[in-house]
Amino acid sequence: MQTLDTFYIGGAWVTPDGQATMPIRNPADNSRIGTLTLGSPTDVDRAVSAAKNAFESFSRTTKDERLALLHKLLEITRRRQGDLARAMTTEMGAPATMSHDVQAASAIGHLEAFIAALDGLPEEETLPNGDILTREPIGVVGMITPWNWPINQIALKVIPALATGATCVLKPSEHTPLSANIYAEIVHEAGYPAGVFNLVHGDGPGVGAAIAGHPDVAMVSFTGSTRAGTEVSRAAAPGVKRVTLELGGKSPNLVFADCDLETRIAEGVAECFDNTGQSCNAPTRMLVERSCYDRAKQLARRAAEAQKVDEPAKAGDHIGPLFDEIQYDRVQAMIQAGIDEGATLLTGGLGKPEGLEDGWFVRPTVFADVDNAMTIAREEIFGPVLVMIPFETEEEAIAIANDTDYGLAAFVQTGDAARARRVADRLRAGVIAINGRGTDYGSPFGGYKKSGNGREGGVFGLEDYQEIKVRAPFVA
Ligand code: NAD
Repeated sequence: MQTLDTFYIGGAWVTPDGQATMPIRNPADNSRIGTLTLGSPTDVDRAVSAAKNAFESFSRTTKDERLALLHKLLEITRRRQGDLARAMTTEMGAPATMSHDVQAASAIGHLEAFIAALDGLPEEETLPNGDILTREPIGVVGMITPWNWPINQIALKVIPALATGATCVLKPSEHTPLSANIYAEIVHEAGYPAGVFNLVHGDGPGVGAAIAGHPDVAMVSFTGSTRAGTEVSRAAAPGVKRVTLELGGKSPNLVFADCDLETRIAEGVAECFDNTGQSCNAPTRMLVERSCYDRAKQLARRAAEAQKVDEPAKAGDHIGPLFDEIQYDRVQAMIQAGIDEGATLLTGGLGKPEGLEDGWFVRPTVFADVDNAMTIAREEIFGPVLVMIPFETEEEAIAIANDTDYGLAAFVQTGDAARARRVADRLRAGVIAINGRGTDYGSPFGGYKKSGNGREGGVFGLEDYQEIKVRAPFVA
């Protein structure tokens, strides 16, 4: 049993003002593994005040000083990768191997890319008109993160603040506090001045809303659902804060008959199921050219039936449970909606896989003959559920792909380089993967439409945390 009853504020672990608590549970068997104390607006005030004080001097550090601290952070993050991975396996069910090699590794990958970006970012530029441009840290940044990629999201927000000289108050998801505490320990050990990084635990309405509306917070960086992102934007509006949002997705995967069908379908299914389908950028709508549709259905079914589901604590390439009961009920309701609306259930369906009845495990599921107007094609399911939609022409594929409220990612499978380029150019999404090659650390990550605004990662992620100042050249 772990009792998380302190917050990291002003460089020390302090007793919070908030008194309410909530259980921390292991999704693999729903057992209680700890208790989290939830903060109050008073805790947010205290953390923002510490961050505001620290900004005075941290904002004036040199790039070299901040690079040295980031290198120290990198060394400690590498050493504690295993601790981060075990925490995420326990609190949200990421399978051990994936939790270590992908979830926890992201803290290292993003940090290396941010170091390279900061290194290459000029501190001062002379514009063609002779005026001089400088970049300055924006101020105190409020950060609100979700449970599905807990450390990835924290790294994408905290590191650019540390890199640019901004200071921050992080509210991680109340469902994944264990990994967040370890991250705070890493930042502490790296030797950041007191108040540069602060951690307040709590729920959305209690702590998240207080951060979003706080008058001394200059910017809010939010990742989570479109619903909560909209509320954060509203709370931030009176203060005219900068708000960056990384929200939901319903990403299309366009499969043309000229691709290596066997490989591309198998990978597309696996990518949709990765992290038990709980990824904002998962390729959840597989659009397949009619001429290869029947074959694609067979291949998708075979891949889904080969997908192993098992205990997250075990090493291997299986998927784990969904992270909680609410998520489990939601995925079941979506599978039921697919059946009710007349989609063809190729494999999977309602209920839990045999032998895994204790945790929030679900059956990898594929629906075919889906119409893009159906609920399962429009709404984020956030579970291992793939929908397959046939198309006749390239033009129709692009139209179906773009017919969504979201625009986070899109995937293209074709043997024709010219088509890959042509189609990628017309997709209304921020991140395009082609033939299994995704984008890398250091590239901007973010979406169009209701998937949000702003970009995280690399130089674009740094720029979101900076103000731009221009001054006239000195004339005597
Ligand atoms: P969520 O919106 O319920 O919660 C996200 C965070 O917001 C949590 O810390 C929560 O406490 C907080 N929150 C909730 N209501 C709030 C409010 N009114 N004011 C301030 N804060 C509030 O999302 P979740 O269930 O934790 O995460 C899943 C969602 O996140 C999915 O929609 C997924 O697509 C999205 N997501 C997006 C990205 C991306 O980069 N685009 C990455 C990961 C997850």
